[in-house]
Amino acid sequence: MKSLNCLIILLAVFFSACAQKKSTVSAIATDTIIKNSPMEWNKLTPEESRVIVNKGTEYPGTGTLLNNKEKGTYICKRCNAPLYQSDSKFESHCGWPSFDDEMEGAVKRIPDADGLRTEIVCANCNGHLGHVFLGEGFTKKNTRHCVNSISMLFVPDKKVE
Ligand SMILES: [Zn+2]
Repeated sequence: MKSLNCLIILLAVFFSACAQKKSTVSAIATDTIIKNSPMEWNKLTPEESRVIVNKGTEYPGTGTLLNNKEKGTYICKRCNAPLYQSDSKFESHCGWPSFDDEMEGAVKRIPDADGLRTEIVCANCNGHLGHVFLGEGFTKKNTRHCVNSISMLFVPDKKVE
């Protein structure tokens, strides 16, 4: 009898530990935890670093988020800051995900080193996103944020059941 009690307690501990673990994981997946200091930033693969740190460009038409039509939020791959909402994504046929507006204060514009274009970076961690182009007439906002898929993560909206 004593050992049965022990077993029940053990099982209870095991299941509550599991339940706790699960809630932590879902909190990370749905509520974006913005990482402010370079010490906390997500580790990047060499290819991610090439684009995000060294301002490279992914090969057109290859990005994993290019044709994503799901509802949700695009966040910074390095610091998790929310950057774009799916509502502002549109099809530009340029080969990279395109948005006609950023989330307020999420994106910084800086003159590109090439002297012609305007570079866009994450306002929180200065990670390279891509370039912004104006006056092309794709949408009413007349703005195209041309963003590397590899610079972002997509967090789908919670589905209402
Ligand atoms: Zn960032």
